[in-house]
Amino acid sequence: MTVEVELQESINYTPLQRMRHSAAHIMAEAVLEIFPDARLAIGPAIEDGFYYDFDLPRALTPEDLPDIEQRMHRIVNGSYPFKHEMWPREKALQYFGEHSQAYKVELIENLTDQEVGIYTQDTFLDLCRGPHVENTRQVGPFKLMRVAGAYWRGDEHRPMLQRIYGTAWFTQEELDQYLWRLEEAQKRDHRKLGRELKLFVLSEELPAGVPMFLPRGETLRHEMETYVRETQERYGYQHVWTSHLGKVRLYKTSKHWYTYREDMFPIMKGEQEASEDDAYVLKPMNCPHHITLYKSQMHSYRELPVRYAEFATLYRYEKAGTLTGLARVRSLTQDDAHVFMRPDQVQQEFDNAINLTLEVFETYGLSDYWVRLSLRDPQKKEEYIGEDAVWEAAESSLREATENKGLKYEIGIGEAAFYGPKVDFMVRDALGREWQCSTIQLDFNQPENFQLEYVGEDGQAHRPVMIHRAVTGSTERFMALLIEHFAGAFPVWISPVQAMIIPIADRHVEYANNVLATLKAAGIRAEIDTRGERMNAKIRDAQMQKIPYMLVVGDKEAQADAVSVRLRSNVDLKSIPVAKFIEGVSEIIKTKSRELWP
Ligand SMILES: [Zn+2]
Ligand SMILES: [Zn+2]
Repeated sequence: MTVEVELQESINYTPLQRMRHSAAHIMAEAVLEIFPDARLAIGPAIEDGFYYDFDLPRALTPEDLPDIEQRMHRIVNGSYPFKHEMWPREKALQYFGEHSQAYKVELIENLTDQEVGIYTQDTFLDLCRGPHVENTRQVGPFKLMRVAGAYWRGDEHRPMLQRIYGTAWFTQEELDQYLWRLEEAQKRDHRKLGRELKLFVLSEELPAGVPMFLPRGETLRHEMETYVRETQERYGYQHVWTSHLGKVRLYKTSKHWYTYREDMFPIMKGEQEASEDDAYVLKPMNCPHHITLYKSQMHSYRELPVRYAEFATLYRYEKAGTLTGLARVRSLTQDDAHVFMRPDQVQQEFDNAINLTLEVFETYGLSDYWVRLSLRDPQKKEEYIGEDAVWEAAESSLREATENKGLKYEIGIGEAAFYGPKVDFMVRDALGREWQCSTIQLDFNQPENFQLEYVGEDGQAHRPVMIHRAVTGSTERFMALLIEHFAGAFPVWISPVQAMIIPIADRHVEYANNVLATLKAAGIRAEIDTRGERMNAKIRDAQMQKIPYMLVVGDKEAQADAVSVRLRSNVDLKSIPVAKFIEGVSEIIKTKSRELWP
């Protein structure tokens, strides 16, 4: 978006954006008070706040912000009206030229209008289309957040400006809420918690975006995957395994080679060096592989749908700048499945896939979600493969199934995959942030590319329809979501360590080992903390590790075959017989409860 277009945007501002943009004008006035020679660029409303870009004689520091804020409060309290005028272009050019406002002059020169909008409040005048609030008093509680560098027009060959970010809300409560959410988001950052909870490692010794998992992280992903695997089997899916390598020819048949190549790692030479078709590719997608498996067998209409599922690690050459912790990686493990079916089974299979997805969300307590129905852009048909009639049929059956389920949905024109329309599930975590997880994609085109068949009731060959479907999306990304959603305090059934046994003194280690063996035999993941630390320090450390149960054992417990149970929520359950503890926790694990104690 060019700066001119961004300025034009202000005419569509919501009341909240209008107020935030007004705060940007007030901030600019305050900055001009401190630096009369400041040159101003632009100051739009943005998500959660506003900014203004300045060309200043010196670098700002965080210590400057309270001073600017204080001056802003004076302006707000002055109730100065925002006055609007239209100036002839020449007058505006002359005014900003005389005031050495080179960026404003450049903006006006790029406008085609004969008249330009001017807004003033108190001592401040700005080029602006508006609208604004009526007076400065109507600007709600605000806070300046930080200073960052920003190139004029985002162009590295133009001057580097200083951007001050601020946030503003209608009420103090909303501002406090927002600041709390920010702080909480930092505490919950999965990269930070991933280190602290010893889950995963991103090492300089490996390519960027290729995480490695420590024992606790591996346990977590194993539990997550086992759960989806069991659920998929219940829903009639069969698991397959298709390795990490493919050939270019396979990806030419699927047409990914022509549409997806940028996201693939460079090809490796194959057996026959001469032929590109026989070169090897690191698998970026499972579809062509599952299709090849389907094609290797004869299929009768009676056995459809065939549902192949796989936890497959895929390799995608994501741009380095877009990689973030586990949320976007170059080796991602998809809980991917492909359903091959008769055309009359589309609705039923789509329902089946939705039910499976919703069951998994329910288990994790992710109750806030909506779906995006992604359709093709009818203006850009050349970007998609397949006939019009095929697309229309696919799009209307997806829409029908979504409506029949009563799901909240939005339509995204131009968001479809190149081979067919899709439904994406957008999940909001505990802080209200959205994550794209599950996807269900209908595909009338790949069966065509691969000439797939099944034998119909009439004994003739017919073409099946496909669904591509992922429940949690990628294990890595979903793990990032779970870490941040639960702030690392996972439900017991997926907690890497479920109980930490803490002997009070060395003489209790033997009994602690007996308890450990009993818990392990009962399928509870437990460890012993035998370090020479004080008991309270051990309890605190286990709590920091978000381990659900701390089991303190001393003389009394050893005599009574019991453990003193402390929950990570700090509740002290006192002494409980070992057998009773196992019974209670086993029930919580079995039912995948999100509670800590019955
Ligand atoms: Zn403005
Ligand atoms: Zn697929």
